[in-house]
Amino acid sequence: MTDVLEEFTDRGALLDGHFILSSGLHSPRYLQCALALQYPSDAARYGREIAERFQDKQIETVASPAIGGLIIGYAVAAALNVRFIWTERQDGVMTVRRGFTVRSGERILVVEDVITTGGSTRECIAAFSENGGSVVAAASIVDRSNGAADVGVPRISLVSLDVPSYGVDECPMCAAGINAVKPGSRNSLTKK
Ligand SMILES: [Zn+2]
Repeated sequence: MTDVLEEFTDRGALLDGHFILSSGLHSPRYLQCALALQYPSDAARYGREIAERFQDKQIETVASPAIGGLIIGYAVAAALNVRFIWTERQDGVMTVRRGFTVRSGERILVVEDVITTGGSTRECIAAFSENGGSVVAAASIVDRSNGAADVGVPRISLVSLDVPSYGVDECPMCAAGINAVKPGSRNSLTKK
């Protein structure tokens, strides 16, 4: 298997430093999975690696929560040669739209790029369960939960990644006087 974290670092998708997260917490690491999926050949390979784990599971459909799950979900579906559909938020609620339907008992694999708390995956599973689908498993490229995220079905990931976060008052990088940057700004996108 490829060294996913090494590749993420090469693509600038995994940065080390002192970052202000969208939550306001500070972290020495920042993960932007979209940067690791810029090249279709990389996305296809991660898709195949996830698909290999489900070859014998009679998956009929891969489904992902938009936007984060779209590229990797599509890649997994392509590798399994099954159809790909997705959920998206409508007024904050994860919803099956665009005319997608699932058959009663249809065997669905839910795929996301990164699992942190498992919230989006759980909501995606709930949306398809309400529509009669049978979500049999979930998968992600990266697990940021140290295995803790419980989505109610068996779950795998290609790699686990610890991203510690700190309140400003307890941040060791702040204490060391290191300048903090907001990821997504021009600076943080400059390739090292
Ligand atoms: Zn800090």
